[in-house]
Amino acid sequence: MAVIVQKYGGSSVADTEKVMGVARRVVATARQGNQVVVVVSAQGNTTDELIKQAKAISKNPPKREMDMLLATGEQVSIALLAMAIDALGQPVISLTGPQGGIMTDTQHTKARIRMVDGDRIKRELEQGQVVIVAGFQGRTQNGDITTLGRGGSDTTAVAVAAALDADLCEIYTDVDGVYSADPRLVPEARKLAEVDYGEMLELASLGAMILQPRAVEVAAIYGVTLHVRSSFYMDEGTKVKEVDSVEREITVTGVAADENCAKITLAGIPSDVNTLYHIFSALAQAGVNVDMIVQAAASKSTTHLSFTVTREDLAETLSTIERLQADEEWEVLADDNVAKVSIVGAGMMTNPGVAARMFEALNEADVPVFVVSTSEIKVSCLVPRAFCAEAVRACHRKFELDTAK
Ligand code: ADP
Ligand code: ASP
Ligand code: MG
Repeated sequence: MAVIVQKYGGSSVADTEKVMGVARRVVATARQGNQVVVVVSAQGNTTDELIKQAKAISKNPPKREMDMLLATGEQVSIALLAMAIDALGQPVISLTGPQGGIMTDTQHTKARIRMVDGDRIKRELEQGQVVIVAGFQGRTQNGDITTLGRGGSDTTAVAVAAALDADLCEIYTDVDGVYSADPRLVPEARKLAEVDYGEMLELASLGAMILQPRAVEVAAIYGVTLHVRSSFYMDEGTKVKEVDSVEREITVTGVAADENCAKITLAGIPSDVNTLYHIFSALAQAGVNVDMIVQAAASKSTTHLSFTVTREDLAETLSTIERLQADEEWEVLADDNVAKVSIVGAGMMTNPGVAARMFEALNEADVPVFVVSTSEIKVSCLVPRAFCAEAVRACHRKFELDTAK
């Protein structure tokens, strides 16, 4: 008997009709003689709505209570889906993350799964039940409810698949696979038959919403092959797995965009490493993750320093800088109307001139570039947010990602 883990995202269970559709697909899989575990997200925009409700009460709600609130979204979905499956005559049980043995650390709102105690899930499967597990949530050793960060149901599914040594881990969503760019931004984007873990991790981390980066990381560690596919159609989707890249001819696999960025510039600060150390260690202590960094000399002894953080971290960043300044008067400029556009591809490592072509594309499309960062398999450019979609399309065209390779 094969063990199959299926994950359905929020748009796949957004209303009653969709919940019934998912139920039919789950029951069909079970009736083919498989043991099925279903991981499900909160319906539609539920999580966004819950966040709005919290923010209406407090600007800075306690993170533990945020988790208490956000976890309710998934609890609604598991119960409704279990009722729908039961109505089709299939034995089924729903479990919250804690009941499903999802054990996490204590970092509320962005907890990491420490381990999955799969005993309860296995017991229920052995009794012939479909097991539905709430995505995105778990519990600490003390019994507190945690959530895993936005998009965290993907990670629940992968962790459960790894713990059960499942034969298949299917991620059902509102697109029929991983594309060369977000099909909402680039209609001519092409569906990829397979993507390597490393490339997928970059794409996900650089803003491709389709999978939570942590899910890809866990999949790579445990060797779980993911099948990303549509919950509305039966087409083959995209396999995310280890892809042999020794003889890669494709330099660029995909383009990603991240609009959740803000740029801070400190103009005229002393150009010594000690100053840099003080700034970045203070930010690290405040829990702010700094992404891109550039420095340009302003005079013999001063420099302009620019770096990016997420938009949520902008306020914390500015108050940290303010505390540091004390009596010095740096000019501090903040801009949260920026976006990061990135090209990703394992083939870049062995092909020179990729960054040049990206700049050519952006130049032809008149897109200003503020900051650039590179790694072995990606080049990222910070651009004005208003130019983001055009920048993605320009890169997609330049690297001819719409044509099959
Ligand atoms: P779910 O609710 O199922 O978890 P998400 O909204 O989190 O779904 O992720 C699916 C969305 O990811 C798609 O609707 C699509 O717009 C977006 N997306 C971004 N980049 C890509 C990409 N490269 N390929 C496919 N979809 C992408
Ligand atoms: N409901 C959560 C979110 O909206 C988790 C998920 O969808 O994966 O982020
Ligand atoms: Mg998602």
